[in-house]
Amino acid sequence: MDRMNPTTARPMVKTCHVCKSTRVYYLFSACDYRVVRCEDCGLVFLNPQPSEEELARIYGANYFLGSESEAGRREVSELTQATARLYLAEIGRYHGPAGGRLLEVGCGDGDFLVLAEASGWQVTGVGGSATACEQARKRLKNGEVYCGELAQVALAGEQFDLCVVADFIEHVRSPLDFLLEIHRLLKPGGTLFIATPSIDSWSARVMRQKWMEFKAEHLIYFDRQTVQTALFKSGFHEVIVQPGWKILTFDYIRLHFERFPVPWITPLLNRLSHILPRQLQHRRHRLVASGVTALARKCARRPQPVLSVIVPAYNEMKTFATLMDSLLRKEVPGLQMEIIIVESNSTDGTREAALKFQGHPRVKLVLEEEPRGKGHAVRSGLQAATGDYVLIQDADLEYDLEDYDVLLEQLLAGRSAFVLGSRHGGRHGLKMRQFAGQYGLSLFLNVGHWFFATLINLLFWQRLRDPFTMFKIFRRDCLYGLEFKCNRFDFDFELLIKLIRKGYQPTELPVNYRSRSFKEGKKVRMFRDPLTWLAVLADLRWMKFDLMKVVEAKTIASRRPAKGEPAAVAQPKS
Ligand SMILES: [Zn+2]
Repeated sequence: MDRMNPTTARPMVKTCHVCKSTRVYYLFSACDYRVVRCEDCGLVFLNPQPSEEELARIYGANYFLGSESEAGRREVSELTQATARLYLAEIGRYHGPAGGRLLEVGCGDGDFLVLAEASGWQVTGVGGSATACEQARKRLKNGEVYCGELAQVALAGEQFDLCVVADFIEHVRSPLDFLLEIHRLLKPGGTLFIATPSIDSWSARVMRQKWMEFKAEHLIYFDRQTVQTALFKSGFHEVIVQPGWKILTFDYIRLHFERFPVPWITPLLNRLSHILPRQLQHRRHRLVASGVTALARKCARRPQPVLSVIVPAYNEMKTFATLMDSLLRKEVPGLQMEIIIVESNSTDGTREAALKFQGHPRVKLVLEEEPRGKGHAVRSGLQAATGDYVLIQDADLEYDLEDYDVLLEQLLAGRSAFVLGSRHGGRHGLKMRQFAGQYGLSLFLNVGHWFFATLINLLFWQRLRDPFTMFKIFRRDCLYGLEFKCNRFDFDFELLIKLIRKGYQPTELPVNYRSRSFKEGKKVRMFRDPLTWLAVLADLRWMKFDLMKVVEAKTIASRRPAKGEPAAVAQPKS
């Protein structure tokens, strides 16, 4: 290999930054750079990356928009601070009140730091530009600012309560190493806030290759799922991803497109600027333009990931012992397994069989006083689960344990956060339900399946073949911020759709499946259940979906009330 000059060579990226896959293919070219996409996790990035010399030229003294004139600088700074106020409010809902130590990486000339300091944080900034850092230092009262790359500044570990990375992570060469460094710097349980452009934002979908965020200095393009996977892989959990609100004016947007021209948008905005009254051009709007924000908490990194297998068992005496036997023998390389049996006071001896596992090192036993539905049992199991991944395994033997490995591999590699074992996805096309001697019933169920699958696909913009499979595996963190209330088989809908509405795209992989007939103990009530499903679907489609509300309630509940102050959330009587 010929020796290359480290400052002028464009570094090649050999594997996907997030899932390490080598199946990374060319999409198109933007600003003279190759934009590629990982086939496995969907991450988009530049490959090769710009050289050090090229980046230095881009980050010149005038990098920050509008910095040619004093008035322009002031307007940009005011808008940045208005957006920073939005960020601080969101952080407050997730993290609790200000106070403690805050680190901002990519602090520019300190707009966010000034505001954070004023609202009670003890601030530290790290930035790449010496002039901007000097500017930030002058504006802060007590805060400190370091110039250089985060890893080179070498701050002491576990000292920050909060780290803010706004419009910066897309500029780093290796985002996972960057996140691991932040993980090191945060105190246990510390909060990370990220704002970054998102390849699944509306502007990216509309503008495609001409999207204004495609530029040489943006090396990585996350979306709602890849940003979560990156966070999960670097030891963060309780992730909440939301649309990235910003405060912008018409004038700012026009200037932006003047600097980064886009065929029909730049001329249109220029034309409008001659027609629109000046006042309107400077009016501030709260917009979701092209990005997402993510909030996450640092958790301890486990040497080996854990899978929680939830087994709801109610009157399953025939199959329970066989299933437990195969589960305890099941090994998935690189993974520990905890088995959670939720027994709902069966009358056929399943409870006695379950009690035999009390005290087993790999089994947790949850005993319900009365049967309150399969959904209720699964929810109890989810509460007891501590694993990184969750699998729901019925105590009947409809699904095949041999399918675990392939489905889990998808999650472990970070290609997906949520996998459905599809009963219809095999090579042989649709695997219809066939019950011997019950053709009418089989037909009825298959038509029902088709009807509800189509309805779900239409309502939630999906292309799923088998949304009703019980075989669901997902990262436990996906559940964060979600609340469930369904108790029967409608819980399956609720779980699937709330995960979809939270932004996870389920991956369907074929699994083996043997359907039970009603005679064998299938517990669906043929006429009553479908009606409740319709009601549940309608509710899920039109309900207001506010993750932060749930998170905020948790934050308030976990905070101890100060002396003389009433508790924020009613506490149960002790
Ligand atoms: Zn990937």
